[in-house]
Amino acid sequence: MKRKYILDAHCHTVSSGHAYSTVTECARGAAENGMELIAITDHAPKMPGSCSYLHFMNLNVIPDNMFGVEILSGVELNILDINGKVDLPEKTIKKLDVVIASLHIPCIKPMSLEENTQCIINTMKNPYIKIFGHPGDPRYPFDIKAVVSASRDTKTVLELNNTSLSPQNGRYDGPDTMLEILRECKKQCVPIIFGSDAHFHTNIGNFSDVEKLTEEVGFPDELILNTSVELFKKTIVSEK
Ligand SMILES: [Zn+2]
Ligand SMILES: [Zn+2]
Repeated sequence: MKRKYILDAHCHTVSSGHAYSTVTECARGAAENGMELIAITDHAPKMPGSCSYLHFMNLNVIPDNMFGVEILSGVELNILDINGKVDLPEKTIKKLDVVIASLHIPCIKPMSLEENTQCIINTMKNPYIKIFGHPGDPRYPFDIKAVVSASRDTKTVLELNNTSLSPQNGRYDGPDTMLEILRECKKQCVPIIFGSDAHFHTNIGNFSDVEKLTEEVGFPDELILNTSVELFKKTIVSEK
């Protein structure tokens, strides 16, 4: 049976330093889990143990298609300050297909709710950043209504991160924040994207927990970018 959600734009390989599968294993895992497309989005250089900028310069050596899965290049950038500064230069990220930016404890300390909100909105204004990763992290509370409005205006999409809903994860805080984000996105008619944030290939395309949340709020399929490669590319891969 064909899967309803057929792409995963947030996958890590051994290059991230704390993930455990190669690109080949990720591609094979994606094929086994019914994905048509994945993006390889390793952590950018400021994450302790991750790879250097050269990794991101050389991604074009990877085949465009492996095991019938389209492979896109990408990165998960670290947001470094309230102005939305990130840890790769524009000339590097503009060549990548999928650019995620996220708040990570080793790279930026949580600020006040107002400052976190400003930080996220400033990041979204960067024309090369297309996804704000795992916004449900309780350590970085923000004004959900303001950030969803910024998502609508900047076309930087909010991610519903499946790994964040695992109780073993440091970001875990239950589903309430994500449900609130979904309700606001539905109200403002703003698209979202699922991300597995897989750090092992068997987890690629696993959206089981975030799927339940979209069902709970009756979130429309046409606003979930994982349902269509065409819609995904139009929104995430093309120039803003
Ligand atoms: Zn990671
Ligand atoms: Zn992350």
